Amino acid sequence: MRIEHLINGKTRPGRDYFETVNPANQEVLAEVARGTAEEVDAAVHAAKEAFPAWAGKSPAERAKLIRKLGELISKNVPEISETETKDTGQTISQTRKQLIPRAADNFNYFAELCTRVDGHTYPTDSHLNYTLFHPVGVCALISPWNVPFMTATWKLAPCIAFGNTAVLKMSELSPLTASMLGTLALEAGIPAGVLNVVHGFGKETGEPLVAHPDVRAVSFTGSTATGNRIVQTAGLKKFSMELGGKSPFVIFEDADFERALDAAVFMIFSNNGERCTAGSRILVQRSIYARFAERFIERAKRLAVGDPLSDKTIIGPMISQAHLAKVRSYIELGPKEGATLACGGLDVPDLPESQRRGNYVRPTVFVDVDNRMRIAQEEIFGPVACLIPFDDEAHAVQLANDIAYGLSSYIWTESTGRAHRMAAAIEAGMCFVNSQNVRDLRQPFGGTKASGVGREGGTWSYEVFLEPKNVCVSL
Ligand code: NAD
Repeated sequence: MRIEHLINGKTRPGRDYFETVNPANQEVLAEVARGTAEEVDAAVHAAKEAFPAWAGKSPAERAKLIRKLGELISKNVPEISETETKDTGQTISQTRKQLIPRAADNFNYFAELCTRVDGHTYPTDSHLNYTLFHPVGVCALISPWNVPFMTATWKLAPCIAFGNTAVLKMSELSPLTASMLGTLALEAGIPAGVLNVVHGFGKETGEPLVAHPDVRAVSFTGSTATGNRIVQTAGLKKFSMELGGKSPFVIFEDADFERALDAAVFMIFSNNGERCTAGSRILVQRSIYARFAERFIERAKRLAVGDPLSDKTIIGPMISQAHLAKVRSYIELGPKEGATLACGGLDVPDLPESQRRGNYVRPTVFVDVDNRMRIAQEEIFGPVACLIPFDDEAHAVQLANDIAYGLSSYIWTESTGRAHRMAAAIEAGMCFVNSQNVRDLRQPFGGTKASGVGREGGTWSYEVFLEPKNVCVSL
């Protein structure tokens, strides 16, 4: 199978191709067009040409087409989920029940919101000030590989709902479902050129897109290192950067132990641990630390690793052999830094013949981790948990904030006052109290410190996808 670029409503072949493989067995799934500055330029040109007519449609007209796209995604959940699972190794139970249906929700939600964009008024005795919001123009949407379809739609839905046009570049490791998105957008009646998809690598395709003078905004999700580079390349453009994380999952002795345990297991091992908001530093109050560690390790040992297409699987393969090597390098590093390997480790999981070539790793737990160790400070982005004891609230805050990142955080306590004090004290874009990560599309999603700049979601998406204008009228 060949996957081509989508430019101005038509497929455009690549001058060269790269392969995308199934991480569960290394089977080649497709040859994918390898974009260069030339295809990027054509895609940006198409988006620029399509912009005036699309921006000129009424929000209600755009909303109708965007809702239709949401409907088409809902109808095609089984096919999109299976493709996503094969391309990424994310388990079918996640893609079918959570990730792909959420993509449809993104379109439904922003279809509604675009009809309700309002501004502010500042009347005085002499003047009336009010704000208008205008679409920005051509937007570059750049997505990582971990939950690609959901992330692409999280960007695309507000982008086009607010009247912008888009050039979407997916990760070279997970390009397949984006091309389905392009086809469905056309089927929904979204005009040619409103969504263009160019495939390819960061340097060859992503960089010319970000640098293109006709691109007015960049919405990027990916690693902190790439985010830093993009900000430098982009120059004066609007941007939103959703970057890496190493989020604290803090459990106090007065927490609901069983619920905290369930959520802790879920927040580090679901999505194969390849999750930006993973609760990868599990801080546990010393008085319950030994009991918690014992139960957590027991649970980690029971997680089913294997074929992501099986409903029973909890942990599928890592996205690529290079990423597997990175995750394994941290598993090797832990004991050298003085952490205790409690379960998992470097032994290859025992799997049937069909999965033997997959990029599998055992769910791994390190206990008695010091927060200054590299395994606690750096984003591993795999099923590797670090358990860190703490003494009291002040110590928990100090450990939680002693990190370059600031994406998400999780607090478990039955004390209302402590929950609010912790939520205020933790340096993170998001804080979940007695809850796993539950997404509300109105919430500001994003991080602080090395986890990013800007927020998306609800009216927060105005920041990147709308340009406010102040109008001042003398009375
Ligand atoms: P990555 O930074 O390697 O790549 C992300 C995308 O950027 C890919 O499409 C890639 O081709 C492109 N790219 C690479 N170099 C580029 C350049 N110079 N110019 C333009 N584009 C370029 O990230 P990844 O490995 O694909 O994804 C994993 C990372 O994403 C993790 O750090 C994870 O935490 C982060 N992530 C963050 C969020 C969030 O919302 N904060 C969500 C998911 C993933």
